[in-house]
Amino acid sequence: MTDRNNVEIEFPEVDLTGIQGVLLDLDDTLYSYDRCHDYALLKAHVHINGHLNLDCDEFLKEYSKARARVNTELKGQGSSHSRLLYFQKLLESVAGKTNFSLSISSEEVYWRSFFEKMELLTDARYFLEKCKNKHIPICIVTDLTAKIQMEKIVKLGIADYIDFLVSSEEAGVEKPHPYIFKLAVEKLGIDNDKLIMIGDNINRDVLGARLLNIKSIHISKK
Ligand SMILES: [Mg+2]
Repeated sequence: MTDRNNVEIEFPEVDLTGIQGVLLDLDDTLYSYDRCHDYALLKAHVHINGHLNLDCDEFLKEYSKARARVNTELKGQGSSHSRLLYFQKLLESVAGKTNFSLSISSEEVYWRSFFEKMELLTDARYFLEKCKNKHIPICIVTDLTAKIQMEKIVKLGIADYIDFLVSSEEAGVEKPHPYIFKLAVEKLGIDNDKLIMIGDNINRDVLGARLLNIKSIHISKK
């Protein structure tokens, strides 16, 4: 696995003139996803290896295979990112049957380790404070299941800065589908031309918002 701990996300200075509400991506926008995922995956491997004999390369190969299959089968839905389904299929492939307790505990180890490693970007914190001071409400618009994304918001310590969440599990579609943005606009109750979307993915975040005439800003990595 490549070391992605040195990849830095640059949260930009955002001009809020004329802006009454913010749509905000979560993963790789407010914290670095890759370093948390890489760490969590290694912890999940150690956990699984304590029960089954599975070396790291084989584990990573099986994980990619399981993830690709779930992504394809559940394309466009929040559950396409379910680590429980990834571990279930990985273990089924390795052991030839469902291992219920190990599927559950591997998912728990993965997310516990992931949350441990999450750190809010300093510039993102400044931005959230700026919005709060200006009474500009924020809706997080994010692809994944509601529970995990809610837990991330709580663990990052930003729940008091965020007014709403729209997850792809809730919407039944993923970014850049217009419906997920429409749900967020509806929750905020603010006209599209007074909103701004901020996110790291050009297609999902930036172009997705622009389909609804919502101004958007791209977060870059260096
Ligand atoms: Mg993202």
